[in-house]
Amino acid sequence: MSTPDINENHKADMRKMQAEHREKIKAKKAAERGLLLVNTGDGKGKSTAAFGTLIRALGWGHSVGVVQYIKGNWKVGEREFFKRFDDLVTWHTMGEGFTWDTQDRDRDIAAARAAWDTSLTMLKSGAYDLILLDELNIVLRYDYLDVADVVAGLQARSPRTSVIVTGRDAKPDLLAAADLISEVKAVRHPFDNGIKAMRGIDF
Ligand code: ATP
Ligand code: MG
Repeated sequence: MSTPDINENHKADMRKMQAEHREKIKAKKAAERGLLLVNTGDGKGKSTAAFGTLIRALGWGHSVGVVQYIKGNWKVGEREFFKRFDDLVTWHTMGEGFTWDTQDRDRDIAAARAAWDTSLTMLKSGAYDLILLDELNIVLRYDYLDVADVVAGLQARSPRTSVIVTGRDAKPDLLAAADLISEVKAVRHPFDNGIKAMRGIDF
């Protein structure tokens, strides 16, 4: 086939695809309320993708909130970045650190409950377009919070508010309530090759 013929065929194919795509979109409706998004899986990128979504929302001047369930108050790049937008961002770091560092189940449970109380207040308030509950899946996996309570709290949120829950091993009951589930799959991680967490990449 000559180059002009290939180009002509391509144009016809694309025109057909455009028409099909437009038909598909016509059949969809705008969301009537905020969505529940879950980023899970054993690969790196769950929290990173959530922070990316926060940036997208901030680009529209949306009001966003973050509750970090596991992380303690060590310095991380994302916190430093979002501080610059403190008129639009509410940020609570409410974990005590990794469970293997705290080694104190009662203290971890108390921290998880306090973080959930704060989350519930934010979810109900109607003050947020988007709330990130970072590593909530981890405290659910350890049964520090009751998954039925958490799902009920998420479902009773202000209709205005979308929520992103992150962390590996998301519970089936949470997934059942989600509008979006993304699973990040680990293919290779520098840690496995003896490389430590790196500033600007991991924290
Ligand atoms: P990130 O915050 O970098 O997007 P994440 O939220 O997907 O990572 P977490 O389970 O919250 O992953 O783990 C956070 C830390 O653990 C990061 O430093 C990350 O690089 C590291 N990590 C994530 N996945 C793996 C893995 N498969 N092997 C080793 N370390 C990992
Ligand atoms: Mg994470």
